[in-house]
Amino acid sequence: MNDLKTMIREVADFPKSGINFYDITTLLKDPQGLKRTMDALRERYKGSDIDTVVGIEARGFFFAPALAYALGAGFVPVRKAGKLPYQTRSMAYSLEYGSDKLEIHADAIHPGERVLILDDVLATGGTAKAVADLVTELGGKVVGMTFVIELDFLNGRGKLAGQDIFSLLHY
Ligand code: AMP
Repeated sequence: MNDLKTMIREVADFPKSGINFYDITTLLKDPQGLKRTMDALRERYKGSDIDTVVGIEARGFFFAPALAYALGAGFVPVRKAGKLPYQTRSMAYSLEYGSDKLEIHADAIHPGERVLILDDVLATGGTAKAVADLVTELGGKVVGMTFVIELDFLNGRGKLAGQDIFSLLHY
C-alpha cells in the first residue's frame, strides 16, 4: 500500500505557511490509485454490516459515496454550516485559530444505524471528533472511522478514544 504515497502530491505551505498539504487529487486521477484505494477500503469493511457511510466535506465526498456503493450502504454528507437545506444538527469544532461548525440533516441517521465515518486526512482529529459526536447524538452507532491518510505526528487518535480507526497510509 505504501507505494500509493508516490501518487499523493505534497504541497508545501498550502493553504498557509508551515502546512504540508497532502493532495489526493493526483491519487484519484490515477486509475490504479483510485481502484486500489477503494478496493482496500471495501476489503477492510465488507462484512462489517455498515448501513451508512458518512463523508465529511469536502474531500471526504470524493471517497465516501463510492465506498458506500461498494458496501451496499447509503451515503450521508456532513457539510459546513449553512449548506444543507433541511433541518440540521450542528457541532462546533476547533481549528488552529478559532472554531467552525459542521452540520448533518437531523433525520439522516436513524437510531441504531451502523455508521462508518470517512475523511481524506486525519490530522488533529477535531473534525472527525465533531462528526462522531453528531452521529452519536442522532442515535447512530459509529462502528468505524476511516481515512486515506493519517498524520501520526499530530496524534488525532488521541481525540478519538474508543473508536475503531483504520487509515490506509501513515505519515
Ligand atoms: P483535523 O480536524 O485537524 O483532523 O483536520 C482534518 C481536516 O483538515 C480534514 O478534512 C482534512 O481534509 C484537512 N487537513 C488537515 N491537515 C491537512 C493536510 N496536511 N493535508 C491535507 N488536508 C488536511
